[in-house]
Amino acid sequence: MKIGIDLGTTNSAVAFINEHGAAEILTNGEGERTTPSVILMEGNKAIVGEVAKEASITQVDDTIQFVKRQMGNPSFKIPLPGLNKMINAVEASAIILKKLVQDAEQELSEKVTDVVVTVPAYFDDAKRNATIEAAEMIGLNVLKIINEPTSAALAYYHLDKEKTNQNIAIYDLGGGTFDISIVNINNNEIKVLSTDGDSNLGGFDFDNVIIDYVINEFEDETDIDLYDDDDAMQELRENAEKCKKSLSRRAKYIVPVSSSGHSMKVEITKELFNELINNLVDRTKIVMEDTLSEAGLTWNNVDKVLLVGGSTRVPLISEMIESFTGISPSKELNPDEVVALGAAVQASLMDDNNPNATKANIVVKDVNSHSLGTISLNDAGDDENSIILHRNTEIPCSSSREFYTVHENQQKLSLDITEGEDTDPEYVNIIGTSNLELPPGLPIGSPIKITISYDKNGIVNVVAKDVTNNVDLGEMVIERKSNITQIEMEEKREALLSIEVE
Ligand code: AMP
Repeated sequence: MKIGIDLGTTNSAVAFINEHGAAEILTNGEGERTTPSVILMEGNKAIVGEVAKEASITQVDDTIQFVKRQMGNPSFKIPLPGLNKMINAVEASAIILKKLVQDAEQELSEKVTDVVVTVPAYFDDAKRNATIEAAEMIGLNVLKIINEPTSAALAYYHLDKEKTNQNIAIYDLGGGTFDISIVNINNNEIKVLSTDGDSNLGGFDFDNVIIDYVINEFEDETDIDLYDDDDAMQELRENAEKCKKSLSRRAKYIVPVSSSGHSMKVEITKELFNELINNLVDRTKIVMEDTLSEAGLTWNNVDKVLLVGGSTRVPLISEMIESFTGISPSKELNPDEVVALGAAVQASLMDDNNPNATKANIVVKDVNSHSLGTISLNDAGDDENSIILHRNTEIPCSSSREFYTVHENQQKLSLDITEGEDTDPEYVNIIGTSNLELPPGLPIGSPIKITISYDKNGIVNVVAKDVTNNVDLGEMVIERKSNITQIEMEEKREALLSIEVE
């Protein structure tokens, strides 16, 4: 069985294609349609989901959450509660995936081997690789990594294949990430025209502004800094989220807070909340505008704005979109489920054996969300980021550019592969470094052609060629910072097997 998984910052969802050929959410072991991406460790047992989320208030040290924000970050390690061991975001994600797949197998009474996993469109190379590693760590075969907004577009199209020549904007604001994609749907083709986002902006940040406000109010009143009280902070985080969700329907909410024998009730009105999150919402507006102009469109050319992600339930989001674009955003798909449903459609497109699989010949054309390049010397002799493959190019894609040796008989070339838009190397990510051997005798200024490719999963490969001698210098193995060796992978897989997940 091939399934689609939306591995979210706060919640995850799983879907498959049912016997009627429709995408359907698989309920988890607790009968719920989404599973909080939270782990509670009890000895050697990892409990994932609602129980873990509830426990996170009182058992801060025993729970792990929000790991998606740390994907691809090699320095992030968290203690595995109860066990004398540190794990990284990939291993924590593997534990969450194990729960999702176990429950799916139970529900389907079938073994799950192949998965499509969604990632924010704005995820960079390291984060995409980390996601694949997490799935492989528990023995899954990743059919494809697909961008969350693209997945949503696929689910939208699959629901009603009659849609022709529509431009839709997919506004995806989840727990921890924001993505916007402009997509054209025409006949059987879903073509992403442009995409952008912010991998550190989501409902989590909305909670944080409430938390900061309450902390300040409490400190003004009592002189007590809540940051020093872990239990109070965890309770406040929980209450801040409740407050935020409640304000999606009500005019005000009272946040109770207590520490060191003092207690207080802090009132948050909807107006105050809107004011507190205004800057964050404005950040998404700027990205929306840039993405639209990258697509070469104006809001008049956009037929629909689809809302995806739990945080789009905040009323200010719809209000902002409507006043900014003149389009009343569509609420026809469940923002918590649509991404997983699209992933299931994608999985079925890649399934030749399943009789229920989507036979419709849907073509999905996606783009890369970051430019790729290398650091070279400019005319003034300073380091500069030179873009080779521009963002918003349809993937899979490949682009080449020539660079020139700077010494007579240069025998080594150190290549930093970058991800980002700026010419200043300080403001781009170095996703890999490689030292190439050059053949002897090359005169100064000899051209070396660098070709960078993105594969269907948005993973980067680099090839270099000595143009003078017309010789391939070989495919460069980029030492991606997130990558682990096969041996390490086996060790981690073994270690995870010893953890019982429920
Ligand atoms: P997702 O990553 O799509 O599951 O989105 C989860 C985020 O949506 C979390 O930050 C939730 O607090 C937020 N969320 C869920 N429901 C609501 C709601 N009714 N109002 C505001 N935010 C919500």
